[in-house]
Amino acid sequence: MHDALLDAIDSAWLRRFRPRLRNWYTAHARDLPWRRTRDPYRIWISEIMLQQTTVAAVIPYYRRFLDRFPTVRKLAAAEESDVLRLWEGLGYYSRARNIHRAAQKIVQEHRARFPTDVHTLQTLPGIGRYTAGAIASFAFDQPAPILEANTLRLYSRLLGFDRDPRSASGQKLLWEFGQRILPKSSPGQFNQALIELGASLCAPTDPNCRACPVALVCRAFREGRQQEIPFRSRRQQITEVVEVSLAVRKSGRYLLRQRGDQERWAGMWDFPRFEIAGQGNGAPTATQRRKLVDQLAQSTGIDAELGSVLTEIRHSVTRYRIRLLCLEAAHRGGRLHRRNGPQQWVAPRDFYKFPLSVTGRKLAGMLANQQ
Ligand code: SF4
Repeated sequence: MHDALLDAIDSAWLRRFRPRLRNWYTAHARDLPWRRTRDPYRIWISEIMLQQTTVAAVIPYYRRFLDRFPTVRKLAAAEESDVLRLWEGLGYYSRARNIHRAAQKIVQEHRARFPTDVHTLQTLPGIGRYTAGAIASFAFDQPAPILEANTLRLYSRLLGFDRDPRSASGQKLLWEFGQRILPKSSPGQFNQALIELGASLCAPTDPNCRACPVALVCRAFREGRQQEIPFRSRRQQITEVVEVSLAVRKSGRYLLRQRGDQERWAGMWDFPRFEIAGQGNGAPTATQRRKLVDQLAQSTGIDAELGSVLTEIRHSVTRYRIRLLCLEAAHRGGRLHRRNGPQQWVAPRDFYKFPLSVTGRKLAGMLANQQ
């Protein structure tokens, strides 16, 4: 069945598809900062930032990042905490750590020159098949196909593919389709046009088929099935979680710790944080408070007396909906140990030097304002 879908993509289909897409892109492409360059370094940074993030959110981060690290050598020579500091707020911080490691590898193993082929690109940390295809085609005009969220939706609809596009067979089909439609001339610009069409007219809900330049070759449109394609798997179950962040104070400074490699937001700094049982709206019970004191002592070496709830922050991380209670706490003994990674007493005026989680930054701002 999959092969039959691809059989429809013959030379007549391509003759109707390619020029229409190109003309539309020339007339409608958004002017985005990373589209004004063929520099693989800049393209790479933009592609990594755009994963899981909107274009509007990325633009200021992209500019700040490149002002600070204008070349791959500058990035490779940076401290990881400086890279994370510039990434703060974008989330998925492993992306920033991988970027930093990949930059070091490019400098050490490729004499600071970007590999041009998709296979070598994929040996770099954090660069998968899509990002490799994007860099190879956008920067070097290699005929490398791409498949990400926008093109996955677009390809599925063009083909009328109504099975799971994320399954192994679905991925095989869509990558093959991405390769088949790619022209020899200017494949990089063509890939950009595919993403742009997927991101704009071929939107997840209510695609604007009336304005679509390739509607006449779109099978989902022809069959009136745009709303049901692509196939969507059932939504992930949301899990409610309650966590406590402790603002432990000692002589005007607060305890911060760096999150470990196996933790969420690895490499970022944060106030000591612990999960507690329960989903209610109340403050921690006396039993939970005693347990928190024990957990703090175990993980940091510090004994503290817990105070009142300073603030409550609600946020979500992947499938977790988190209710975060920020409690004040006073140091009453103990010395920091480093069994669980770096920890430090930090004055509020120095919070800005540390890459913090978004919620950590909110609490830090609140503590700094109390000074
Ligand atoms: Fe998407 Fe509609 Fe265009 Fe088909 S016709 S590619 S569904 S916008």
